[in-house]
Amino acid sequence: MNTEKSKTAFEEAKKYIPGGVNSPVRAFANVGTHPLFIARAKGSKIFDIDGNEYIDYVGSWGPMFLGHLKDVVIEAVKKAADNGMSFGAPCLGETELAKRICSMVDSVDVVRMVNSGTEATMSAIRLARGFTGRNIIVKFEGCYHGHSDSLLIKAGSGAATFGSASSAGVPEDFAKYTLVLPYNDTKALENAFEKYGSEIAGVIIEPVAGNMGVVIPKDGYLQKIRELTKKYGSVFIVDEVMTGFRLSPSGALGRFGLDADIVTFGKIIGGGMPVGAYGGKREIMEFVSPTGPVYQAGTLSGNPLAMAAGNAQLKYISENHYIYEEIELKGQYLEESFKKSSDKYGINIQINRVGSMMSIFFTDTKVVDFKTACLSDTERFKKYFNEMLKRGIYLAPSQFESLFLSDAHTKEDIEKTATAFDEVMGIL
Ligand SMILES: *Cc1c(COP(=O)(O)O)cnc(C)c1O
Repeated sequence: MNTEKSKTAFEEAKKYIPGGVNSPVRAFANVGTHPLFIARAKGSKIFDIDGNEYIDYVGSWGPMFLGHLKDVVIEAVKKAADNGMSFGAPCLGETELAKRICSMVDSVDVVRMVNSGTEATMSAIRLARGFTGRNIIVKFEGCYHGHSDSLLIKAGSGAATFGSASSAGVPEDFAKYTLVLPYNDTKALENAFEKYGSEIAGVIIEPVAGNMGVVIPKDGYLQKIRELTKKYGSVFIVDEVMTGFRLSPSGALGRFGLDADIVTFGKIIGGGMPVGAYGGKREIMEFVSPTGPVYQAGTLSGNPLAMAAGNAQLKYISENHYIYEEIELKGQYLEESFKKSSDKYGINIQINRVGSMMSIFFTDTKVVDFKTACLSDTERFKKYFNEMLKRGIYLAPSQFESLFLSDAHTKEDIEKTATAFDEVMGIL
């Protein structure tokens, strides 16, 4: 595999862009190689500038649920572009997308469009604080909700209950309003509510975590959060930026039969365009400006091209529920063949999968939270990643990310992937 052009392109990019990339994980720093520059993509495949072809399991980190260059999405965007790029005034596509999301997700009565998942979660926690008049936000270790100050907080050390900033530039004063709890720990959750319940504005969680690798909530865990937030008058924010419309036509909420006060979206609802959204119960959402006192705005929010892409993708999804059954089968096949190969060669792995989201951790300990995810042998992951890449399989370049299946992955893709995996287990 020759990737010389990508290597040169990266050197050039580094002269003008910090680290050569516009989002850190793209730099491939965790896998000891340079990133691939992508020229184009179609269906389940991406093609780099050296002309190599890969089966893509990143899918732009989630949005490409129907595969790349999906005809209905591309046509809708082209048609919208003919009418102008942006108006800064209402357009019909905004109401159409809002109506679609409200009709597909029970917990959402009204929804506000923004431009990224980060904006959605940032606005959701401001709204939770504005609505309750409280300051404390609860988040879970290993969950990622974008890069706003209040959410770039990691667990404090030792006995400290409140978090500390996980990025330079976040004042420690912000960290004192974010309580960080271990994922899947019901006792820690109950203790936090007993102690701070009346001060907790909201709880935000990934209903299936995808940003520490895939971690699955224990039975009843999310329901427990629902119960406690209701009891203490806190807002339950379910961050479906990754899982929304992926884990079912109504996201993780639909899959688990769960109710939320605010739901955040991104990725899939934009069909590849930069979009985010937050929505929920009408009485809470009406606290947002212009009807309410919580300010939030956006020059490009509800952009007509983004709305066209989102509408086309969600319309297709809502009319083709078979996608979810097929993806489940593809996921099952991959999971089973991965397990078979790792058993055959005696490699210790844990596979966590929900539908089209899956992670392989190189450890013999069951992965149920951030601490256990960190037991994974990241050196082994690095070798695994590079060997898979050599065989034309493009995975997320980090142990702590999910593999994403799409509707475009064919039986042949899946079999080719299983074969590559078997070879790689043999030399790991
Ligand atoms: C990707 C992601 C975000 C951030 O979305 P951006 O569009 O990258 O800002 C927030 N929450 C979750 C769960 C995500 O996966």
